[in-house]
Amino acid sequence: MDYLAGLNVTQREAVEQTEGPVMIVAGAGSGKTRVITYRVAHLIQKGIDPFNILVLTFTNKAAKEMRERITKVVGTEAKNIWMGTFHSVFAKILRVEAHHIGYPNNFTIYDTDDSKSLIKTILKEMSLDDKLYHHNYVYGRISMAKNNLISVAEYQQNEQIQADDHSSGRAFLGKIYETYVNRCFKAGAMDFDDLLFKTNVLLKEQPEVLYKYQNKFKYLMVDEYQDTNFSQYLIVKKLAAIRENLCVVGDDAQSIYAFRGANIQNILNFQKDYPDVKVFKLEQNYRSTQNIVNIANSIIANNKNQLEKNVFSANETGDKIKVTRSFSDNEEGKQVAEAIAQERADANLNWSDFAILYRTNAQSRSMEEALRKLGVPYKIYGGTSFYQRKEIKDLIAYFRLTFNPADEEAFKRVINYPARGIGKTTLDKIILAADKENKTLFDVIVDAQQYLDARAAAAVSNFATAIQSFAVVAKNQSAYDAALHIAQQSGLLKDLYDDKSVEGINRYENIQELLNGIKEFSEREDIEDRGLDVFMQDVALLTNDDKDKDDKDSVSLMTIHSSKGLEFPQVYIVGLEENLFPSQMSLNSRADLEEERRLFYVAVTRAEKKLNISYATSRFKFGTLINCEPSRFLDEIDPRYLEIELPKKASIANSGSFDDERTQWQSNTRYQPAQADVFSKPKPATKPLKTTSLLAKAHVPSEGFAPSDTSNLQVGHEVEHERFGYGKVLTLEGNKPDIKATIFFKEIGQKQLLLKFAKLRIV
Ligand code: ATP
Ligand code: MG
Repeated sequence: MDYLAGLNVTQREAVEQTEGPVMIVAGAGSGKTRVITYRVAHLIQKGIDPFNILVLTFTNKAAKEMRERITKVVGTEAKNIWMGTFHSVFAKILRVEAHHIGYPNNFTIYDTDDSKSLIKTILKEMSLDDKLYHHNYVYGRISMAKNNLISVAEYQQNEQIQADDHSSGRAFLGKIYETYVNRCFKAGAMDFDDLLFKTNVLLKEQPEVLYKYQNKFKYLMVDEYQDTNFSQYLIVKKLAAIRENLCVVGDDAQSIYAFRGANIQNILNFQKDYPDVKVFKLEQNYRSTQNIVNIANSIIANNKNQLEKNVFSANETGDKIKVTRSFSDNEEGKQVAEAIAQERADANLNWSDFAILYRTNAQSRSMEEALRKLGVPYKIYGGTSFYQRKEIKDLIAYFRLTFNPADEEAFKRVINYPARGIGKTTLDKIILAADKENKTLFDVIVDAQQYLDARAAAAVSNFATAIQSFAVVAKNQSAYDAALHIAQQSGLLKDLYDDKSVEGINRYENIQELLNGIKEFSEREDIEDRGLDVFMQDVALLTNDDKDKDDKDSVSLMTIHSSKGLEFPQVYIVGLEENLFPSQMSLNSRADLEEERRLFYVAVTRAEKKLNISYATSRFKFGTLINCEPSRFLDEIDPRYLEIELPKKASIANSGSFDDERTQWQSNTRYQPAQADVFSKPKPATKPLKTTSLLAKAHVPSEGFAPSDTSNLQVGHEVEHERFGYGKVLTLEGNKPDIKATIFFKEIGQKQLLLKFAKLRIV
């Protein structure tokens, strides 16, 4: 079989152009990722060793999917391709090479929480105002410096930076940066940005290491190249320098990470860096209907800064894009959830065919609530990861200390958890002593009687001894046995077990789940090294998405940022309101507003068949109800492709003030149909379904759905529908609980509805 048959002419040319620099700049859904996937398969078919191929993707999920597809063509060899996000790939390399730059190879990765906690400690030690030097601000500033490869010395000497910091009244930022870097180093820790920063240092300072990887990675490919920052750009450039077998793909219209230092210029400069680059343009969108592609084009046309592209679809015209208004965020959630349930039933789809996309994580709450009420299973991507939960982080902090006792953030996290009478004063004394003697916190407690009074010294020495004994156990026992031992002997398991509140039980179960995962890991046969240290290594890099091994059929919820590169048959974009989307922070400059518009473009282009957009006229923000204006982006869409749907006839008639709508909304909420016998499913479990695997935890509904009482509905009955108004039942088909009614509505004509979801009242 010709495995390249699934490509158009240009895609195929790009796949077959395996040597030298290649750039593909093309619109959404035009097959850029597909080209990379086929290109890798093609290289392997040509006899290139998968170990010599490096593919950098935007998410781990994307890497996983790509590997699965390649496996279909080339077989199990695909597992040897180096493929993953920048962070995961270079963490892996640093695990081997970190000693060249003075770090232990078992360095800890500080996640964002660890970094911010360290910043807070430093601010306190320096007695700086934590409002002026807010930890988020400081973190952002340090991150920006690292992503632009600005070292501490450069930061402190750069006149422009110094002038900026002085004029904003934050003259100490350079000093904070310095202390932060020193403290991370002392703790044997790298933060997320270090994974790239230190890789750059390594490749710069160690020519033989650079040479080794230049020769290892004979072919390099980068997806979503428009969102690489300077640090990433330079790594790629260096690694590819000998052969220049570098293929990058991207879309300037989808550049959405400028706020994190990504530089759209990378894509524009590629031609300068590689004058003999072969450029391919893909213009046909294979993903979406014509209507969806057309509205995407009409949105992005409002941006001034963009490369000319002519994206078209040869797919069906498709439905118009539905725009729905609701009175509140909760109402919006309810409408979306009901629409999804109805669509799924009508079109015989899976839950996983639907995605709900939002601008900010906070918006997931109203969506989740509505989905739970309807009994719709869902999964949140990229949200707070399982590994970010307090109890999980606590246990992992014990593991971290076991392998790297210098780890300061892990130390602070668990020195007095579970409570062992080590108070703040003692901790402060330990930190002070460590600073003075240039020791790690752990070194200080090993020698506790030198620095602390007898009682405190006894308490901390016990802690030190426990950690040291964990290290022995971890060395000699399987990952699972060691993990269980640590969970028990630290007292953590008992502490959670004793807490019989709902949250306490939940936390205990989460720990069990983590242990299950470790057990599975320690029994794996495909890897040689199965110690707890290996399991632990890059836990900080794991996200929720890495946990869902058994892809349970569920609706996907995520921010637009994390939806990049993905596609779904039906997409709901919610919260199209001024100050939310576009976000309030983007309204000050054209550049920011254009980035926000690109974000909207990304959202719209995730949809294959149907796209729904909604906004609410009021929403809770920081605990207060505020009025919202529809987003300016709605006005920018070419209305030919839109179908505007307002929640109620009545509200169109007196579409005046907010008050009318509020009254209308309140009367709507009174319309609560009684619990009836058309109950569609066995009552879902009230607690999350227990799975044995750590990697399987989709959200599971916790409440039943109360449909309207239409159990006696018969042909000929007159009914009222919440949205469609008055009508008459023409036919009833199917069996309970899936009875479908065909109803003739006076206003809109004939419509088929699934009774269990229809908001119907017999009149
Ligand atoms: P994005 O910019 O959103 O990342 P992309 O350019 O990477 O999009 P892909 O995800 O590679 O696009 O492709 C979009 C969809 O179109 C996928 O489902 C892909 O399988 C399909 N597709 C791409 N090229 C072809 C083709 N030649 N024939 C059939 N389907 C194709
Ligand atoms: Mg893609």
